[in-house]
Amino acid sequence: MNLILLGPPGSGKGTQSSRLAKEFKLAHISTGEILREAVRSKSYLGEKANHYIHTGQLVPDEVMIEIVQERLKALDCKEGFLLDGFPRTIHQAEMLEAFTRIHLVVALKVEEEECVQRLASRKTCPGCGLTYNPVNHPPKKENVCDQCGAVLILRGDDKPETVRERLKVYVKLTAPLIEYYQRTGRLEFVDGTLAPDKILQNLKNMLQSKILLWK
Ligand SMILES: [Zn+2]
Repeated sequence: MNLILLGPPGSGKGTQSSRLAKEFKLAHISTGEILREAVRSKSYLGEKANHYIHTGQLVPDEVMIEIVQERLKALDCKEGFLLDGFPRTIHQAEMLEAFTRIHLVVALKVEEEECVQRLASRKTCPGCGLTYNPVNHPPKKENVCDQCGAVLILRGDDKPETVRERLKVYVKLTAPLIEYYQRTGRLEFVDGTLAPDKILQNLKNMLQSKILLWK
């Protein structure tokens, strides 16, 4: 089963993706992470991506798709994968279709103001990329990552004015994407305003019913 999880910044998409991937034994592919990994490895693609990142530009679709394609060749993707943060544009979605089959796309629905509020108090682990929120997902020890022990940070792009800008970009790019997957009958919405455990439960129920249909 190959899935895509869509959701605005602050929707809890990252957390839900990693939990869902674990539940269904899918490879969790976060584009933020594989991009950082590619840059760290100084591979040919990584160096290419790094050039854009360092000059403050978006990594072009062609480079991004190559990085994703490389990643999807890995053994852990054989039984299925969950893409988190990709595709971002309809162009990317079309390129993705060219070499893999996406069974289902799930969009988390959260209102703009709620995203802004959530991100303003969010902390990120610079080590493993996990995110924490004092309200619904606090770290066990204050300011320290549960998973790797690094000291948590507030990211600059989580500031309210930056978040509003990111949300605008998200809506502009994702609206056509949602329409694209809806048209091909592969889109499901899930309420992203509920408690994280409840959202996960709803996601699981929905996927299980889909899997039964596919069998
Ligand atoms: Zn960590």
